[in-house]
Amino acid sequence: MKPRDIFLRAMRREATPRPAKGSATSIATTDLMDTVGVHFPEAHLDAETMARLAAAGYTEIGFDNVAPLFSVCTEAAAMGVEVDWGQVDVMPTCRAPLYGIDDEIAIPEDLLTREPCRVALAALGLLKKRYGEEVAVVGKVFGPWTLGYHMFGVEELLVNTLLKPDAVKRAMATLKEVTVQFGIAQVEAGADALCLADHATRDVCSPAAYDEFLFEIHQELAERLPCPVVLHICGDTSDRIPRIRETGLECFHFDSKVPTAVARERAGEGLALMGGTSNLDVIRTGTPEHIRRDVREKVEHGVDIIGPECAVPLDAPFQNMKVLADEVEAYADPEYS
Ligand SMILES: [Zn+2]
Repeated sequence: MKPRDIFLRAMRREATPRPAKGSATSIATTDLMDTVGVHFPEAHLDAETMARLAAAGYTEIGFDNVAPLFSVCTEAAAMGVEVDWGQVDVMPTCRAPLYGIDDEIAIPEDLLTREPCRVALAALGLLKKRYGEEVAVVGKVFGPWTLGYHMFGVEELLVNTLLKPDAVKRAMATLKEVTVQFGIAQVEAGADALCLADHATRDVCSPAAYDEFLFEIHQELAERLPCPVVLHICGDTSDRIPRIRETGLECFHFDSKVPTAVARERAGEGLALMGGTSNLDVIRTGTPEHIRRDVREKVEHGVDIIGPECAVPLDAPFQNMKVLADEVEAYADPEYS
């Protein structure tokens, strides 16, 4: 079975000859950039450069997928937020919010042809053409909660979940259309699956707030995004995994703050799991033995796609992801054709 099929089948919890390996979030490290000769910030701003760095997830590390969107700023930049695109060893950041909570958000008519979106869509097309037979091409969209941080600023959004919940709901309803537009465009450009990153982490979004502002939107996104979707939320999400399982989203990318056994138990049989391997303790500083032990623990608890919990720190050694990917191969079933 090709890595592409293993990855996409694992996203739906269908039978595979081994667990899948890969990530829905950035695997870019500075030593990986040096190895393939392309660097940040160009890899956010030029399609060929972006595609070459993403391809290294397969060619250098051995993952079953490639994922070219490395930053959290693509949609925000296309919406008009001023973005600092960072440096070789610094991720991009949004400089200042665009709106107050009472403002009407305007989605630009040319959103998808604006530079940040255009570059990402072109990179997905290049990856599909070059590697689409072998590996899964995974795009990335941000959900309305994360887009809300970028449009309003974190504090303005969070304070108004209490003060002006209706204004927050109106904003979420508008911003989810950005997610849908960009997601559909990514699938049309060549993405086989999408990461939906929506940072409704426990410390900023209570279980009640998740239900009030996001649960139905995540259900709707599961329906409207025309491909398998992996929801990424970092931090401790133990309390909301049972709700996520009811959204209809295929897969959940979980953080090591959720014990693996808890994630599996709460995800049940229907929701696939990706990630859960600690970036700090395993990917960045783990010994090969430590990494192999972590892989074994993930396999034993039925994690479907094994890999880092979130965007890998830029100063991590990419060889540690290769050790992880090689170790997953050890669990291949020789009987399986
Ligand atoms: Zn994350």
